Amino acid sequence: MEQLAILGGTPVRKNPISYGKQYIDDDDVAAVAEVLKHGDLTCGCKINEMENALCEVTGAKYAVAVSNGTAALHLAALAAGFGEGDEVIVSAITFAASANCILYCGAKPVFADIRPDTYNIDPNAIEKLITPRTRGIVAVDFTGQSIEHDAIRAICNRHKLLLIEDAAHAIGTKYQGRPVGSIADMTCFSFHPVKTVTSGEGGAITTNDEQLYHRLIRLRTHGITRNREEMVHPSDAPWYNEQVELGFNYRLTDIQAALLISQIGKLPAFAARRKEIVSRYDRAFSEMPELVVQKEIPESDTTRHLYILRLNLKALTCDRRQFFDALHEENIYSQVHYLPVYWHSYYEKLGYAKGLCPNAEAYYQEVMSLPLYYSLTDEDVAGVIKAVKKITAYYRK
Ligand SMILES: *Cc1c(COP(=O)(O)O)cnc(C)c1O
Repeated sequence: MEQLAILGGTPVRKNPISYGKQYIDDDDVAAVAEVLKHGDLTCGCKINEMENALCEVTGAKYAVAVSNGTAALHLAALAAGFGEGDEVIVSAITFAASANCILYCGAKPVFADIRPDTYNIDPNAIEKLITPRTRGIVAVDFTGQSIEHDAIRAICNRHKLLLIEDAAHAIGTKYQGRPVGSIADMTCFSFHPVKTVTSGEGGAITTNDEQLYHRLIRLRTHGITRNREEMVHPSDAPWYNEQVELGFNYRLTDIQAALLISQIGKLPAFAARRKEIVSRYDRAFSEMPELVVQKEIPESDTTRHLYILRLNLKALTCDRRQFFDALHEENIYSQVHYLPVYWHSYYEKLGYAKGLCPNAEAYYQEVMSLPLYYSLTDEDVAGVIKAVKKITAYYRK
């Protein structure tokens, strides 16, 4: 058997690769340079163009560009009206921002467990957590796979809840043929460089609801409006605008918007390549009893942001840490997505105890994310598979 690199053998890969990486080409650079040379740097036409492009991709009526995905979640939670005394149900396995946005509004995050096979929020778990105080749900399209909209919509209708979809992983994904972004009451996107399309930092909210749209626009710029109908003291004066609530400066620059428009043009190619890589990994790992392949629901046509390698620890002599370290020594730099949110010490201090979501906690002990990005070559993918097989063979029971 080939010696593991961690034991002094030759690493499968010469140069390190990480789990995610942006792809920027000359068109992207030219689009940004054009704004810098000739455009408005902020509050210009590129923002409208970007919002229109997002409406086209998602099929939503309205899009609001904001400075990052966390700002998108914050504004969505505010527009939803979440506040003191309210409970909002949120996936346990997600980036902390999905739950933090509930705290920003003074409401209480209530963590729902994941399905052990898809790793997405379990509709049955949601139902059990509903109380008279429950106002909404923040559900994450984890790894890019769509949440179970039919089941979740039925719960929302039954209990009059508002659904915010955290689609930071899921631009390009469809549910029953409908693009993510046009289904939930509000859908939040992130354009951080590790996501499928990037603007450096950036985010957006899409919605089909005109009232929510106007509220989001206003909250994005300090709570200030130029719309007379929203004013308490309407005035004819051309300079007059009025702050009617407490908002923020969560605007995106036109420089970033230009980059995103250019990136959205490449989304079909990005999505196709990501799907190809996922199916290569799936094919290689599905025949190995030491590994578990993420289940995909038939309703979701997924543009995957993350590829989760899950270990069947019963069939291995190592734990996740040993596997992760061995992969690192083979020059494959993995990451773990995610710690159950309520395991963060901040949430622990708020009184959340371990044991809340057993599926999420078991999941966390067994996973790491493999490289998945557009510019990954077939040779790279083959190298990752080879390294995973080599480590698995070494630790096989
Ligand atoms: C990246 C991410 C966010 C936050 O987006 P930023 O643009 O980094 O603020 C929120 N939720 C999930 C699930 C994410 O992956």
